[in-house]
Amino acid sequence: MRFAIFGDIHANLEALTAVLADAEKHEVTHYVCLGDVVGYNANPKECLEIVRNLDCPVVKGNHDEQASIVDELVGFNPLAEEAINWTRNQLGEADKQWLRDLKMVRQVRDFTIVHSTLDTPHKWGYVFNQLDAAASFNYQHTQLCFYGHTHAPRAYIRDGSVKSQLLDKLTLEPGKKYFINCGSVGQPRDGDWHAAYVLYSPDKQFIELRRLEYDIWKAQDKILAAGLPQRLADRLALGK
Ligand code: ZN
Repeated sequence: MRFAIFGDIHANLEALTAVLADAEKHEVTHYVCLGDVVGYNANPKECLEIVRNLDCPVVKGNHDEQASIVDELVGFNPLAEEAINWTRNQLGEADKQWLRDLKMVRQVRDFTIVHSTLDTPHKWGYVFNQLDAAASFNYQHTQLCFYGHTHAPRAYIRDGSVKSQLLDKLTLEPGKKYFINCGSVGQPRDGDWHAAYVLYSPDKQFIELRRLEYDIWKAQDKILAAGLPQRLADRLALGK
């Protein structure tokens, strides 16, 4: 059994396609999505279709929420807001209903998934440091939890105190708790433009971050052709 854990796809079809091809190459048996399927990039409908067809556990992201309701946008910067308004016009009612029905937190086998934090999942807080992670750990009832939202892969480990380290390859040890950010498929912000996702093998208790090349130029062209802000195309290449 091997899981592909991926999130923050943000309507980047080229990046999502690369991730799923890599997962297949690594004989993934189960898929898990950490939310923010839509927003920012140019293929919300196509990405939503693919994720829905995987028929896998998915949790709701803040862009999924905002794209699927009619209320005014709250707490979004102008760039994100423009993209959300555009995204709302691309999605059909069935797409929006599917997004609205997503849960905030789920347990998959023996691990938990959430988009933002376990302490206040509805408030879309960000885990940027040990203090933020410590608050979330208080609500984590499984040894392992995967999350997204910051678009930067990272491992927080609670072993008495909370430590933080870059995510690469990691073997889980008994008695410790893990809060693992899987990075972003479609809009990485850790200074590396490569699409990110995580492979998890429960039998070996082994986690591995994957970074992949994809057709970034095609994704950028589509953003510009859709009339979305130039800055959304530029930031893909910068990884921020
Ligand atoms: Zn996101």
